[in-house]
Amino acid sequence: MSAVRTVLGDVDPGELGVCDAHDHVFFTSPRLPGEELNSVGAARAELSAFRAHGGGAVVQWTPYGLGRRAADLPPLSRETGVRLVAATGLHQDVHYAEDVLAALRGRAAEVFVAELTEGIGTSGVRAGLIKVAGGFHGLDAHARWVMSAAAEAHHATGAPVAVHLELGTGAPDVLELLCGEFGVPPHRVILGHLNRLPDPVAHRQAAASGCYLAFDGPSRAHHATDWRMPDAVRDLVEAGHGDQVLLGGDTTTAAARSVDGGPGMPHLLRRVVPRLALAVGEEAVRRVLVDNPARAFAADWR
Ligand SMILES: [Zn+2]
Repeated sequence: MSAVRTVLGDVDPGELGVCDAHDHVFFTSPRLPGEELNSVGAARAELSAFRAHGGGAVVQWTPYGLGRRAADLPPLSRETGVRLVAATGLHQDVHYAEDVLAALRGRAAEVFVAELTEGIGTSGVRAGLIKVAGGFHGLDAHARWVMSAAAEAHHATGAPVAVHLELGTGAPDVLELLCGEFGVPPHRVILGHLNRLPDPVAHRQAAASGCYLAFDGPSRAHHATDWRMPDAVRDLVEAGHGDQVLLGGDTTTAAARSVDGGPGMPHLLRRVVPRLALAVGEEAVRRVLVDNPARAFAADWR
């Protein structure tokens, strides 16, 4: 049976409701000193605010080693009523100390599978997706190694694979490697940050593969590309790809959180969604927020 693997267990995909398909409850990286998302209290307030605006589920793309706080996720989900999906996988190598990656050499796929099927660390909380990352218009050796392990873990478990595209670039390289070389079915791949490369042709080419396309990041420091998002999604809807679009907030710093005065997760529902509805209509927005994530994050777990 197809199910979404949440931190409280497997659920029917229809139970997700309105889904923030790419965000972070917790996230710490040496690259963002002083901006760590590591407060349980702030996470609870942020999720409650998201819930108050009609939010039903948040998919956290924080991978291995970047402060996921897996054990804190189930109580947060229970307390706020927001379903949470956690991730395994790895980010770009710049986010890690060398010894962390060295310890995973030769066993990354095994670790990913264990986190998807047994639990993250000793928490017993299972991941529901595999996060990987590409580079700017290309893939370095680290990205290829991680994607190889992610593909292996996908084949072993059925888990979806979510990809950070650096500034929205590199989709063809990622699809060639993950799907072409490693055999991951395109409809099990979610490409993130498409909004940061506002090229409608590149979007349609990626969509033609059958993969999901996530438009995410309005919670972050202002991007000049933010205002192009509604038109980009409209182009995809008009080209027949409305069933492949996902929307996310991608809050990665404390300053971006709504409880600290930033836009945060609620912004997605308060301002981004009404603006998107002006471009594509309420029906297409419902698919993007509810129907598409239910398909994208569900898996026939094995
Ligand atoms: Zn992210």
